[in-house]
Amino acid sequence: MSLDRQGNKSIVILGGGTAGWIAASAMIDRWAGKGFDITLVESPEIGTVGVGEGSTPRLKVFFDTIGVRESDWMPKCNATYKNGISFANWSTRAGFERYFHPFGSQVDRHTLTAFYFNTHARRQGIDVPAHPDRFFLTAKLAENRQGPKANENFPFIVEYGYHFDAQLVGEYLKERAKALNVKHVQAKVSEAKLTSNGDIASLLTDTGDTIEGDFFVDCSGFRGTLIQQTLQVPFRSFAENLFNDSAVVLPTNQVADIGSETVSTAMKYGWAWEIPLTHRIGNGYVYCSSHCSADGAETELRTALGLLDSDTEARHLKMKVGRVEQHWHKNCLAVGLSQGFIEPLEATALNIVCNTVYDFVETVEAEGFASRGRDRFNERTNSAFEKVRDYIVAHYIMNTRDDTDYWRQNGANKNVSDTLRQILQIWKTGKNLGQEMERLQIQSSYSAMSWHCLLAGYGFYPDIRPMPAVNPATSQFNMAEIDEFIRRCSKNFRSQNEQLRF
Ligand SMILES: Cc1cc2nc3c(=O)[nH]c(=O)nc-3n(C[C@H](O)[C@H](O)[C@H](O)COP(=O)(O)OP(=O)(O)OC[C@H]3O[C@@H](n4cnc5c(N)ncnc54)[C@H](O)[C@@H]3O)c2cc1C
Repeated sequence: MSLDRQGNKSIVILGGGTAGWIAASAMIDRWAGKGFDITLVESPEIGTVGVGEGSTPRLKVFFDTIGVRESDWMPKCNATYKNGISFANWSTRAGFERYFHPFGSQVDRHTLTAFYFNTHARRQGIDVPAHPDRFFLTAKLAENRQGPKANENFPFIVEYGYHFDAQLVGEYLKERAKALNVKHVQAKVSEAKLTSNGDIASLLTDTGDTIEGDFFVDCSGFRGTLIQQTLQVPFRSFAENLFNDSAVVLPTNQVADIGSETVSTAMKYGWAWEIPLTHRIGNGYVYCSSHCSADGAETELRTALGLLDSDTEARHLKMKVGRVEQHWHKNCLAVGLSQGFIEPLEATALNIVCNTVYDFVETVEAEGFASRGRDRFNERTNSAFEKVRDYIVAHYIMNTRDDTDYWRQNGANKNVSDTLRQILQIWKTGKNLGQEMERLQIQSSYSAMSWHCLLAGYGFYPDIRPMPAVNPATSQFNMAEIDEFIRRCSKNFRSQNEQLRF
């Protein structure tokens, strides 16, 4: 099948979770009127995973690209703005018990030099302020519960993500896609028929219907119905360095003053998220089932939230962490949980969903459906998974907790990629991280800024060495000026509550 051949081509998407509707929205947006018809089939009986409430700035790019306005989708999905993520209690190093991983802003260029300089000096044992939070505007906005949208007179771009009700985002995109002529079928697919060359020919539903297609998009969630079960593409588990495989979810009431950050707090056997939406706070505990039972995790989370058993019912989930070896195989593309999942510590899943879909669309537009483009697409997508994985694994390697075997085993785990090993080595040996990553051509999904924040945020520094009283490194940057600069910038932002009045 190729874009330049005449005649209608049919694309069938299996699954109506966020991944399915993002795929349908992107494809209809790019390919409407170009000879494609799109059908999405989903089973209300199976339902969606129903979690996934935080995003990176990539989701904003997606909504902007398909022409959806915040004033339209955000109120309908109980969405709020997100400046970044706070990590609490992951490190026991004094002064580093909490840090913020910020989304970037253009004003960071005024403070980044000082941050890099100070973290470099601190890595030599020089006593300078080197905690990330004092250097970033979005850290201040999150601390003040301000939204990331500047008043009109502030001419700098500030990146941001969102918090939202995943179910409602799916609903919103569904209604929009249906209005744009995506055909919606509600049925459970019981079987996929193959052609003689091993391509998928059609899906059979439990209502006895056959849905034929030229190309299939598997958005069936952790099941991986088409990519894993039908086409037998192998799944590579990440369990050797990402131990968590379960989650328990417990919503609580929203507070009057809505926050503008996700908070990720280390627990005994994993970590808990706190995500502020307009109508509730989403809470969940991601943990490792070989260290903690489902009941134990629920009790620990309830205690942390001050909730009784009778207050609200918990939802328990299993997570399959890893990725398929080929995301596009034969005439099938896997998107979302069916292609793989890295635990949600940095809320990267929808980022990967959007990148997978748009990379696929662009590859097809440039090269058709030929195997050459497909092979390179698979390499890029696998590499994207591995790069995100490195950053998530780094959180676990950096932790300094020793209260449970879980944390001790994480901290002692030597199963890390060469890339991550190199990054840690550069940092430890006091070299310039950004320059060295470039020189060694270390590929990462995360910028040098994000790596600095993570490593500095955990207080991964040597002991302070005795220094002469007058040391040029300690007086190079005036922290009072940096504090004042950020304070003045933050005056240009209203509270999250005010910014949510559309
Ligand atoms: C604990 C947890 C926390 C998470 N937090 C985040 C986060 O903060 N940020 C983020 O970006 N992501 C997060 N994610 C990931 C996010 O939830 C998913 O990436 C996203 O919801 C997309 O899911 P999906 O559409 O692939 O699968 P699902 O939501 O599971 O949808 C699968 C669809 O396939 C259909 N289906 C399956 N089999 C059949 C069949 N045989 N016939 C018909 N239909 C079928 C189902 O009915 C459903 O419609 C989290 C995931 C977990 C587990």
